[in-house]
Amino acid sequence: MATADSSKRIKVLHVSPEAVPFCKVGGLADVVGSLPPSLKKSGADCRLLLPAWDGVLDAARDKGLKLERIPRSVDVAIDWRVCRGTLWKTSDGELPVYFLESPFFQGKNIYPQQLDPESVLPFVFLSFAALELEEVSEWNPDILHCHDWGTAPLIIALLWHKYYRLRQFEYRTVFTIHNLAHQGHLPLYSLRDWGIAEDAFTMFGLEYYGGANLMKGAVVGASAVTTVSPTYAWEIQTEEGGAGLGGLLRSHSHKVRGILNGLDTAYWNPLTDPLLPANYSQKDLTGKKKCRNALLEQLGWKEDGRPLFTSVGRMVDQKGFDILLPAIPRMVEWGCRLFLAGSGQHEYETAIQEASGRWPDSIASFIGYDEEIAHQAYAGGDFFLMPSKFEPCGLSQLISLRYGTLPVARSVGGLADTVFEYGAPGGNGFLIFDYSPEGLLSAIGRALDVFWNDAGGYRAAQVSGMASDFSWDRSAPVYHDLYRS
Ligand code: ADP
Repeated sequence: MATADSSKRIKVLHVSPEAVPFCKVGGLADVVGSLPPSLKKSGADCRLLLPAWDGVLDAARDKGLKLERIPRSVDVAIDWRVCRGTLWKTSDGELPVYFLESPFFQGKNIYPQQLDPESVLPFVFLSFAALELEEVSEWNPDILHCHDWGTAPLIIALLWHKYYRLRQFEYRTVFTIHNLAHQGHLPLYSLRDWGIAEDAFTMFGLEYYGGANLMKGAVVGASAVTTVSPTYAWEIQTEEGGAGLGGLLRSHSHKVRGILNGLDTAYWNPLTDPLLPANYSQKDLTGKKKCRNALLEQLGWKEDGRPLFTSVGRMVDQKGFDILLPAIPRMVEWGCRLFLAGSGQHEYETAIQEASGRWPDSIASFIGYDEEIAHQAYAGGDFFLMPSKFEPCGLSQLISLRYGTLPVARSVGGLADTVFEYGAPGGNGFLIFDYSPEGLLSAIGRALDVFWNDAGGYRAAQVSGMASDFSWDRSAPVYHDLYRS
């Protein structure tokens, strides 16, 4: 691998389907919204390419950003058709952002319910358009940094596209796996329509059990593969945690690295957060008590001293609902209160609503996506529940730690790198070691013991969490070193 000239300012284009504050489905948007600006602060010439999904250009203008239309169109050939896009660039703000406008992105909900040769096309267009950016915008990145399966076609094209591989680009590529659960499976030969050459369709290329696997292609083709926490980097190289790609990742382990995600600590700051009813810091937690009271009031619950567990996140298998639901009756019996905010799989949404119908004074839920409610849940709880089956990094536990709400979290992936058992050095929460309702209840039992019997210990764990540095200042230099290498 070539070594970059260390005196040169490195130029990096991040390509992602989502990024705050423009469009968001999950944690990927938070990361892509905050990593490139930190990298820019630390000296890299970082820019971001984002699809202009419905509402994205308006969101940019609402933030007061000036948008400049790039005169040349972006032309990409897919299936013998020329697909044309328009590029808009922010001319102010902390990070230059290119928004790609095209009919491909209109009327879509970012990720399709079902991935097929048609519904993947917005992602193919985004990926190939990134390769046209240097022609169209006259800015020539050294590194293309792709995020998750939706931008894997970019790396695949550099290696196997009949036209793009002849262009002799000098890019190095970084592929970041935010969640190995979504790999992008398609019928193998549907990729011919994109211009992918036959030599890609082997087990050394994209082929995966008779189909095509986009993430596999990106892992094979990328100059470096990163994932979002050191423990997850190890887990995905095992049979158990590799979701079918463990062997492949092991065989590429020389280029796989786990770099812990950071948090946008300016946005997630209990001292300044405008969405909270009161602000606070580790020095004075009076405001947190007010946030707790406000949340109780909003839920129609009287303060009776019972511990309040909150949770914010997608209600999907990954987040541990199959161990949480059977544990609820015992939690109620033990005097816990639980407020869950999120949405996802219908069966979990329904089960939670049924539980709140059955125990209205102990269980409550908000089904939907709401930034304000999320902030209030992070601040208002005594404990934050995160019994994930697997968790690449997890941002919610970082937020809850920063807001002084002790996480009760499964010891897995990024949770294992950031939540430390109460009583151990740096103890800031409670770990679920065994993935079962009993394992969850055991951690809740330890949390309750501290809540009822050890106010000083509880406070020390709170301070330990609130004082931790989960900002990008810690992780951005690691990415910088990777780019330089
Ligand atoms: P994942 O990326 O697996 O969804 P993370 O913990 O990495 O989980 O990040 C989730 C992000 O999305 C957090 O910022 C969390 O606050 C936010 N979030 C998830 N669900 C909701 C919701 N229903 N309302 C508001 N914010 C939400």
